[in-house]
Amino acid sequence: MPELPEVETVARDLRRHLLPDAGGPGPVITGARVSWAKTVRGEDPAAFTEGVAGRRVEAVGRRGKNIVVDLDGGAFLTIHLKMTGQVFVVPATTPVDPYERLALSLDDGREVRFRDVRKFGRIGLYAADDNPFDDLGPEPLDPRFTLRAWRDRLRGRRGRLKPLLVDQSFVVGVGNIYADEALWRSQLHPLRSADTLRPKDERELYRHVLEILAEAVERRGSSIDDYTAPDGDGEMQERLDVYQRTGEPCVRCGHPIRRIVIGIRATHFCSWCQRLPAADRAASARLLATMTPRPGGGAGAGARKGRRWVDLDGAGSLGRSPDEDGRAREREERASRTARTKAAAAARRAAARAGTVMP
Ligand SMILES: [Zn+2]
Repeated sequence: MPELPEVETVARDLRRHLLPDAGGPGPVITGARVSWAKTVRGEDPAAFTEGVAGRRVEAVGRRGKNIVVDLDGGAFLTIHLKMTGQVFVVPATTPVDPYERLALSLDDGREVRFRDVRKFGRIGLYAADDNPFDDLGPEPLDPRFTLRAWRDRLRGRRGRLKPLLVDQSFVVGVGNIYADEALWRSQLHPLRSADTLRPKDERELYRHVLEILAEAVERRGSSIDDYTAPDGDGEMQERLDVYQRTGEPCVRCGHPIRRIVIGIRATHFCSWCQRLPAADRAASARLLATMTPRPGGGAGAGARKGRRWVDLDGAGSLGRSPDEDGRAREREERASRTARTKAAAAARRAAARAGTVMP
């Protein structure tokens, strides 16, 4: 699904096509052709068509994963691409694609066409005082989104990092691809809980979320699945280190990239260089216990309810190899023996000071 960099790219291309000279007047929408009613938010194509007709395009921007087209009179359109939405600006004489769901005709002889194979995309028309973005978190690439603002939002969050990063009320624009990439760059496990982050981890994650998004915007996004923009594909897919690279060697350490499914989201990470801290292991092990077993690597029973965990086997998934686990256990035993010895010695000293004799 397109994320911030992809949506930003579509918005920029669309702006270039509709408003080629900044500050100059944009085209006027003369009508709409709705071929799939559900594409229109509110599912009222007649009201939509009437509402957009005669309005001039004034600006094109983005909020979260929505393309926002400002019209005169304060009205605005939102375009959410969802899984497979694509936007093109073409001469009205161009043959209509069978997957076109909605088109806006312009007074300059062109059309803005929304093509959407899977039909999850939505286009909404709003009045000046509507706020469809009430629930959205801050824009990560906004200069006002400082490290301090990031820390303030993280504090008190107890969820695991992967679901937290893709939560649009936490911060907008991050989805499956860039969450996995940012976590890998930060060397943080996707199942790590937010409340175990040290200040250094918070800073690293902030830095890498911003870095990967900015880099992807520069490369016009990742053309994976159906994503493309009015002026063509992106090339960020060539630069991804973990996303959809299951089984390939991690470029940092050479161990194979793993894939787990958290809820409905495939998550890619390196269990070798994205370790879970001790505090998180017990809870994660409980989660892992609910994973669907896959005897012989099969598709699993699917009979069990709850979270699906696939392609996951052994302690390595928790951030340690069996070998490391053994060493860690020895270390813990040694530490606890040392602690017991020290406690006993301290008790003997205290007893000696008190003038009693310990057995
Ligand atoms: Zn690695």
